[in-house]
Amino acid sequence: EAPNADLAELIRTIPDHPKPGIVFRDISTLMLDGGAFAATIDRMADALARANGGDPPELIAGIEARGFVFASALAYRLGAGVLMMRKRGRLPGPSVSIEYALEYGTDMLEMHDDACGPGASVVLVDDLIATGGTALAAVELLEGRGAHVRQALFVIDLPELGGAQRLRDAGVAVHSLIGFD
Ligand code: IMP
Repeated sequence: EAPNADLAELIRTIPDHPKPGIVFRDISTLMLDGGAFAATIDRMADALARANGGDPPELIAGIEARGFVFASALAYRLGAGVLMMRKRGRLPGPSVSIEYALEYGTDMLEMHDDACGPGASVVLVDDLIATGGTALAAVELLEGRGAHVRQALFVIDLPELGGAQRLRDAGVAVHSLIGFD
């Protein structure tokens, strides 16, 4: 049996969302199950501990919006702070931003420019990695502020889209609980 098959079966698949031909993996159904949500956070923490020798990061950077859910629970468990990587125009303070390409058009991620000091150890968290464009943009933004992003954690990886490999090629260790073809 595949690792974390108990969690995988709680993820709903929605065909043709947000557009025809896209198979959307909907993690909201897993989040509704308290035991499964706790197990997800515990297994993310275990993956990090195995990779990191138990040295907790200072900050968990979560990507808006589903990434916040997992980032905040994981940060609480590890005693780390939460750094929000937000979509365009949401942050009140002086911010830095990066634009990145989507299949059609572009999107933007932003963070407060004083959210992390130089040399801060940061773990990046999101619900899912597909092409890796979002995560790579987040890493570039964080490293532009002097952070060290050595690990990235995702509940779901879509390995055929190559994002995890692109992130590894950029020097970030990547962990995920569930892979979907
Ligand atoms: P990427 O930039 O192509 O790696 O896409 C990853 C980003 O898009 C993440 O922030 C995900 O939350 C979101 N995303 C892409 N595909 C899905 C999906 O099937 N389910 C949930 N989120 C997705």
